[in-house]
Amino acid sequence: MKKVVILGERRAGLIEVPDPQPKEDWTLVKVHASALCTEYKSYLLGRQLNLGGHEGVGEVVAVAQPGTAKIGDRVVILPGFPCGKCPLCLAGDAVYCEKNYDFEQFIGSKTGMGTFAQYTLAPDRRLLPIPDGVSYEHATLAIDGIGAAFGAFQAIGIGVSDTLLVTGLGPVGLGAVVNARFRGTRVIGVEPVPWRKKRALEMGAEAVFDPGEADVVEKIRSLTGGKGVDCAVDCSGKLSSQRLCIDAVRRRGRVACVGESNDDLVVRASPDLIRKGLTLAGSWLYNLGDYPQVMQVVQQSPLIDLLVSHLLPMSRIQEGFELLASGQCAKVVVKPWE
Ligand SMILES: [Zn+2]
Ligand SMILES: [Zn+2]
Repeated sequence: MKKVVILGERRAGLIEVPDPQPKEDWTLVKVHASALCTEYKSYLLGRQLNLGGHEGVGEVVAVAQPGTAKIGDRVVILPGFPCGKCPLCLAGDAVYCEKNYDFEQFIGSKTGMGTFAQYTLAPDRRLLPIPDGVSYEHATLAIDGIGAAFGAFQAIGIGVSDTLLVTGLGPVGLGAVVNARFRGTRVIGVEPVPWRKKRALEMGAEAVFDPGEADVVEKIRSLTGGKGVDCAVDCSGKLSSQRLCIDAVRRRGRVACVGESNDDLVVRASPDLIRKGLTLAGSWLYNLGDYPQVMQVVQQSPLIDLLVSHLLPMSRIQEGFELLASGQCAKVVVKPWE
């Protein structure tokens, strides 16, 4: 089969490797579409991909033993290799499992790890059904495109009466705008790239500010009768935007962090948490029990086509990574068999 490799700084291509084989309750899935995410950062540095695609969907083509997955099933492949047995896994929060399988040790090689490939291996408990009528490219959005923000919305209870601030309108932040519009939530954005600002406005964001412009907090307050937004979700992973979320919410406001960052955010116990009554949450994907609702957004939102800006054959993966590096895109999806 063909799979994606990083060949050097800003160079990526395909290589031929043996087809992986199913083992125990790990099934073989023919990957029909896979969305690009943070992998472009490895591409820019010329660093080998850790996983090599984690937003894949496809069709079960082989099993090693009878189980819940059947040949021919159309499935979303949830990322990660959690144990399936610990309290977090049993509660549907497998993304936080601390006993993930070591793929290479379990399978015996890295072949079949990651979804930037024609086939991938996944434990059958990580496969979720794609409803009839949902295309493979749309189904990829049930992972991070719609799902990442959905988890944050659940974590801080975002609803129809809220005004929401979204900082960082990349693929995940634009997914937050889609989720907000689906819930009837008023949304204000912050984003420096003109292409993404424009896309967020097309999706129904009321205003999008540049993080570099003066008095952004004041401008956001002026749209909320001077009090601040009810809630904020940071999808940028930037310290200044995380801070902006805390400063722009009203008293008793709620903030969720979705964008990953290696920097240390300073949160002050008195002015931020106690006197303001702030709720601060982090969210990584979503609880498995929310999958039907995530898929409902994918199926029913009239904005979903605006969230997939580019659909490319996997052989053009380098172009996909460049699009993400440029910021001139929403979700980029590759098709391994084209
Ligand atoms: Zn992702
Ligand atoms: Zn577990």
